[in-house]
Amino acid sequence: SPIIFWFRRDLRITDNPGFHAACATGRPVVPVFLHDEGVERLGAAPKFRLGLGIAAFAAELERLGSALILRRGPALQALQSLVEEIGAGAVWWSRGYDPVSVTRDAGVKSWFKDHDVDARSFAGHLLFEPWNVKTGAGGYYKVYSPFWRAVCQQDVGPALPAPLRLAKPSHWPNSDALSSWHMDAQMNRAVPIVTRYQSPGEAAALAKLDLFISDRINDYKKNRDFPALDATSDLSEHFSLGELSPRIAWHRAQEAVRVGSAGAEHFLKELVWREFAYHLMFNSPHILDRNWRVEWDDFPWSADETNPDFVRWCRGQTGVPMVDAAMREMYVTGRMHNRARMISASYLTKHLMVHWKLGMDWFADCLTDWDPAANAMGWQWVAGSGPDAAPYFRVFNPETQAGKFDPDRAYIDRWIAQRQEHPMHTALEFFDAVPRSWGLNPGGMYLSPGVSLDSGRKRALAAYSTAFPPR
Ligand code: FAD
Repeated sequence: SPIIFWFRRDLRITDNPGFHAACATGRPVVPVFLHDEGVERLGAAPKFRLGLGIAAFAAELERLGSALILRRGPALQALQSLVEEIGAGAVWWSRGYDPVSVTRDAGVKSWFKDHDVDARSFAGHLLFEPWNVKTGAGGYYKVYSPFWRAVCQQDVGPALPAPLRLAKPSHWPNSDALSSWHMDAQMNRAVPIVTRYQSPGEAAALAKLDLFISDRINDYKKNRDFPALDATSDLSEHFSLGELSPRIAWHRAQEAVRVGSAGAEHFLKELVWREFAYHLMFNSPHILDRNWRVEWDDFPWSADETNPDFVRWCRGQTGVPMVDAAMREMYVTGRMHNRARMISASYLTKHLMVHWKLGMDWFADCLTDWDPAANAMGWQWVAGSGPDAAPYFRVFNPETQAGKFDPDRAYIDRWIAQRQEHPMHTALEFFDAVPRSWGLNPGGMYLSPGVSLDSGRKRALAAYSTAFPPR
């Protein structure tokens, strides 16, 4: 009987262990993607990017003589109907690790098991399953460095090739048209502009990995902090949707280490930061929506979405060029350089004293590489409320950061049109991308910061010493 393979954030053929196992049985495989509650809840840009990813993946399956069946509705119900329609004997999928997916999947698994349908989940999104990395005392890791040392002792196993055979069912069940899902409906910004910056699909991901390994990895450690340079892998959008297997990237970087590439080990460490984020989210899911350290609960952050400082930050109008460049880059491209993420997040949580959750939610609405674990860990790390976090009293000065990491203002000029005689097209594009209701135009004044860098810093430090008086 056919196997339903329920694709989620694993939109790839190569090194997809569950899909590989399904194809290896020789039984007909019906690939399915469900628009369930999880998809419903996605932010605007991640949902839009998922739509592009689904289209690319469906085309890839068609090339192999298969198809991607799309259905909408609560996962269990949608799968029950499909099982009945095609007489499937199995429903398999790759695991998710966020609490909502874990609960949903457990419910699906137990219902099908009770009804004699073989329900199974597989690894594939991560290099190391979160429960397989344990401290000496049997707990989970809360600090990155020992986590890194622990995973270095583990074998990730070889990457699996794309399946050679993909048996088709005798008849295909009906499928929704992707266009009927309106995946870009919440994008209150110019979709054609944002689309130009996306590279959906497995083939694009593998090509980017090749380019990174051949041209960039050697200088990765040296250049990765400079937002104006194309020095990083740009792979996060692919890892987020599973268009690229982390194991393939891991093996390629290990090879680079073996041939003496200077930056390769640092790249491996970044891949392990992603693993660490998942390890934390799985073992302490409250990292997603509460201060990981409860002692931060009384800290006087503003949690008001209408706070004008917050609104200006979202719109790239703080008057601090490095912060505004970062926020504009994200709005136009769906991406933001890691250094810029740290600077803009620090500015929001410290100089503006706005709650990290508001910033995290805005990123979740705007990033096409949105990842629940990396986003939450990144925000709590910067805010100081997370495990292994940067100390709160270490307040990044965005001007000093710009001087260090954007010394010739190439990144700032790329995104800030005001005060430039001949602004770059990217800087002008921002004004075309944003909603009209924001009322912005490139000829408008560049505002001065609502809170000066010095007074913002002092205010944050004073609040910190009141909340956490020295003992
Ligand atoms: P590279 O430098 O080439 O790194 C390779 C891969 O390692 C990345 O693709 C990513 O999968 C992983 N990685 C690198 N840095 C980190 C990190 N600090 N934490 C976790 N994984 C990492 N990353 C996301 O993928 N999605 C998010 O929603 C996200 N939100 C963030 C929010 C904040 C406040 C901060 C400070 C960081 C956030 N990051 C997030 C991490 C990081 O900024 C991005 O992964 C990185 O910028 C992606 O670019 P790249 O693929 O070129 O990375």
